[in-house]
Amino acid sequence: MFQRILIANRGEIALRVIRACQEMGIGTVAIFSEADRGAHYLDLADEAICIGPASSTDSYLKIEHIIAAAELGEAQAIHPGYGFLAENADFAEQCRDSDIEFIGPPHEAMRKLGDKVEARQIAIEAEVPVVPGSDGLITSDEEALRVANEIGYPILIKATAGGGGKGIRPAFDESMLLTELKAASAEAEKAFKNAGVYIEKFVQKPRHVEVQVIADQHGNVVHLWERDCTMQRKHQKLIEESPAPNLPLETRESICEAATRLIKNAGYYNAGTVEFIVDENNDYYFIEVNARIQVEHPVTEMVTGIDLIQQQIRVAAGEKLSFAQEEILCNGCSIEVRINAEDPDQNFRGCPGLIEDLRIPGGLGVRFDSHVYAGYTISPYYDSMIGKLIVHKPTREEAIACLLRALNEFQINGPGIKTTIPLAKKILNHPVFKSGQGDTKFVERTW
Ligand code: ADP
Ligand code: ADP
Ligand code: MG
Repeated sequence: MFQRILIANRGEIALRVIRACQEMGIGTVAIFSEADRGAHYLDLADEAICIGPASSTDSYLKIEHIIAAAELGEAQAIHPGYGFLAENADFAEQCRDSDIEFIGPPHEAMRKLGDKVEARQIAIEAEVPVVPGSDGLITSDEEALRVANEIGYPILIKATAGGGGKGIRPAFDESMLLTELKAASAEAEKAFKNAGVYIEKFVQKPRHVEVQVIADQHGNVVHLWERDCTMQRKHQKLIEESPAPNLPLETRESICEAATRLIKNAGYYNAGTVEFIVDENNDYYFIEVNARIQVEHPVTEMVTGIDLIQQQIRVAAGEKLSFAQEEILCNGCSIEVRINAEDPDQNFRGCPGLIEDLRIPGGLGVRFDSHVYAGYTISPYYDSMIGKLIVHKPTREEAIACLLRALNEFQINGPGIKTTIPLAKKILNHPVFKSGQGDTKFVERTW
């Protein structure tokens, strides 16, 4: 086992990894940008190293600085968290070239799966259903028109390197397709330094269902059941839960088995998530693999009782999985709400600032994963997510009631600070959500 791990991230997930390491008796090296200097979670690490100025391109994305910090801090492994460099195959490769274990998949598998067009191909080879769409990248207007006519409008133009809900544009007819194609490609080039786009059928009223998988380096692959992340705004998840409501048992078993098959075929190890959309007939289609730990991993931890970060570390250290598929049970229901410091009245613009007062709810089955506290200043430089409130109860009905109760207790105040809590409460209170009948556009349509 590793003696020391460097955490190449910040905020909530950095603290989450520090906690896992401490419970395993592993030392930790935290890194921080000048904007995060003084944050309390850094005190919990054995060592904290400044890696650059506030701008993430000069700090949390600076590969050489992070590897130098790992060498300086004598860390044998790096946990990338999510976002930043977590899905950067060059980073994973450079860590291993520097004799530092990357706590994630092999960089070869990550490179293949990180490209959505290639990932689609891997899914097809593993006989996992994909959304009808182009065979590969779109190379001309004529090809785009031909593919769209074959599958029928509306369609989605998606960036092959896209992520975080960005780089997805709909087109409803031929003229829109041609203008959006150019815009999508230019946007993808700017955001992801890769102009490649492909086309998928725009599935109407889908649900987002994803499967958590973990594999060791000895060929063992298991799934930890599914999560439903249908409550989204602008393709970004707001509320996540496990198990998925209203998913027929047959579909559930089939989708989990498909995800495991795909991961096996890809030569993948460590934790990963296979994302699908499920249509109104409960037919499911692969959309992408997230080759990292996910924001919403706690709901899976709550229903299975398995600490996913600790498992990631064990797998990276070469251990065999200590459980078989049949031993992984899904107990009760867990729901997570992402708390973003955003102003719903200002088009969800981030609202950084000083938290003067913070009251965190508690009680049976309530978990709050966050690095913030009263006196913490939310930085304008990074993601607006400041924490995740998670509940675990025997039934979905009880979980919703508990989460609403906890959100009512939650107080966060400071000059100009607004959060997405009011929106989360509206969703949780809505009969469509309560009955598990929503689709991915439900939130945008309703509010
Ligand atoms: P999850 O499925 O874990 O919710 P998200 O897609 O919301 O994943 O991404 C998690 C974090 O990683 C977010 O902070 C998001 O902004 C960031 N992220 C994910 N993929 C990319 C990408 N390709 N480029 C930039 N940021 C990304
Ligand atoms: P990202 O890498 O940004 O997470 P995804 O491919 O996972 O991109 O898609 C994000 C979200 O966009 C999905 O959860 C779903 O809501 C929506 N989406 C993606 N592809 C389709 C599709 N073909 N039809 C309908 N909705 C889709
Ligand atoms: Mg996704």
